[in-house]
Amino acid sequence: MTKKNIKKKFIPHNRPTLGKQEEKVAVEVIRSGWIAQGNAVENFENDICQYLGLPPGSAVAVSSGTAALYMTLAIYNAKEKNIAIPYYCCSSLRNAVTLAGGNPILVDSKMDSPNINMETIVPSMDIAIIPHLFGIPQKISKGLSKTFIIEDCAQSLGAYVDDVPIGLQGDVGIFSFYATKLITSGGQGGMIVSRDSAFIEELINYRTFNQLDVQKHLFNFQMTDLQAAIGSAQLRQFTKFMKRREEIYLRYQDANLPLLNNESGIQPVRFRAILQTPKQAEIITALAKNNITAAIPMQQSELVGSKDNYPNASYWIHNTVSLPIYPSLRNEDVKRIIKVVRKHL
Ligand SMILES: *Cc1c(COP(=O)(O)O)cnc(C)c1O
Repeated sequence: MTKKNIKKKFIPHNRPTLGKQEEKVAVEVIRSGWIAQGNAVENFENDICQYLGLPPGSAVAVSSGTAALYMTLAIYNAKEKNIAIPYYCCSSLRNAVTLAGGNPILVDSKMDSPNINMETIVPSMDIAIIPHLFGIPQKISKGLSKTFIIEDCAQSLGAYVDDVPIGLQGDVGIFSFYATKLITSGGQGGMIVSRDSAFIEELINYRTFNQLDVQKHLFNFQMTDLQAAIGSAQLRQFTKFMKRREEIYLRYQDANLPLLNNESGIQPVRFRAILQTPKQAEIITALAKNNITAAIPMQQSELVGSKDNYPNASYWIHNTVSLPIYPSLRNEDVKRIIKVVRKHL
């Protein structure tokens, strides 16, 4: 075989980091004979509390980030309330709001960031869901003190704003542990954190859906011990994961790739490496030809509503490319990615 015919190793856009530690804890749970929600779930909740500097008992594990949003909205009586959510975001937010009977009010991105423009959230909006996209957190504006704030931290566990961990700036923080997030609890999972102990109690009651004598429709949103044990194992390695993500990010930055800028006063996590470039299609095609998958972070087809009303989001939809960045990406992979991107900037 000539050298030309050797196809270069495939580099996926994303990949969970799973190894011996996850295997070990999964086997332990299986051997214990208890795999549904139990001690491992409680331990994972308290691990997250400890990580965020919250007292034990301030977190509730659920089956997904979407479930976390839905349960929060359901408990805060979102029905018929106006709920601000970003236009530029995954459908999970819209779905949770709609399922909870709320009235979603779509808000545009900022001019200098794909994150939601909080200045356009007005007091008539009762609740706002504020995601910190791509690991780049934003400070919650003081002007929103009358609005109930749900911080969506699905992409930004470990990020800080003014030395406050994200998830604690607003009234409630939610996290996702889906396979390709910063850490995963066995493919799916979510968490809700809050300092409001009455709210935590209501969440726990909701989650105990089949043991309560109530005339309410409650769904099963529980996490399993098998998932939670994997989540805790991932959290124990999180510092190492973040360090490797940062190294890769710095390699991209040192190669002068046009990455999204950070705002001041924040400490991001490198969930995504997003290029800001008008050559979106060209770069994605060139990478694909080299057996590398890059992605459009948010596509027009995923969003509802006329794009004309959301000029900033519309710009971000067409001028961003998400490059591979995850702990198992090797330096030689990063080099290959940089070489292709630089040729097409
Ligand atoms: C992934 C994600 C969600 C939904 O989490 P799931 O666990 O997939 O339901 C919500 N918001 C944001 C910003 C996300 O990235």
